[in-house]
Amino acid sequence: MDVRVLTVRLFDAHCHLQDAALAPRLDRLLAAARADGVTGWSCCGVREDDWDAVLDIARRHEGVVPSFGLHPAYLRDRRAGWQDRLAGRLTGHPAAGVGEVGLDRAKEGLLPLEDQEAVLREQVALARDLGRPVTIHGVRAWSRVIEILRPFGPHRAGIVCHAFGGPADLVGPLAALNARFSFGGTVTRTHARRIHDAARAVPLDRLLVETDAPDLAPIGEHGLERGPDGRPVNEPRTLRVVVATLAAVRQEAPEVTAEATAENARALFAKAFSS
Ligand SMILES: [Zn+2]
Repeated sequence: MDVRVLTVRLFDAHCHLQDAALAPRLDRLLAAARADGVTGWSCCGVREDDWDAVLDIARRHEGVVPSFGLHPAYLRDRRAGWQDRLAGRLTGHPAAGVGEVGLDRAKEGLLPLEDQEAVLREQVALARDLGRPVTIHGVRAWSRVIEILRPFGPHRAGIVCHAFGGPADLVGPLAALNARFSFGGTVTRTHARRIHDAARAVPLDRLLVETDAPDLAPIGEHGLERGPDGRPVNEPRTLRVVVATLAAVRQEAPEVTAEATAENARALFAKAFSS
């Protein structure tokens, strides 16, 4: 499959450009992605300590939209008063979203689920009050995410279900809460039947693509560096691989997938692009 034929713009709906594995060589990495037509990035913080770096990158690189939040894997680092500081950060940056937030039932050593849920609820409430899109991580927990979100009603500013892994029958209930569904490197796993079923169930106007760089590198040899753990360090330029694979799974032209996902992401983060 030739993944270089795309001539349309792309938008990376979820990544962590502030990560130490990417930040020192970011100029080069973003230039490589731009050469493939990527014109936008949703860059999500994961803990209070990285919000400054996220903001700095968004200021220096055109097309980067910042989001600030507490990721479930970093909740033990949170300090008293984080809610006020998150609110202040968002108020000071009207185009910023809330994220990455969520629930994780797979990773070991995290806070108990009920504690994760309490923090998620607070962040969703803040996103709702301030009218911000919210980016959610849900590992083996999308049903619980729905239960947390439902009492708030549809989230008018939109929800990004990042690295959505299904099941497909949750697409409807999440869409009813105004969710979009973002697919990344995991869609390239040939046996990821559940993810592929979910990818086919998502309407085109709710579809997004992401790299989650430096995490979730697509399967295959893409000339990526290896991290200290031996795993490939994902780069923004692999977005075209995700688009090509997702298009094949959905049996649509890659240009259609690229154009629709870029349009959907721009609409979601419209405040960052209207000036
Ligand atoms: Zn992420």
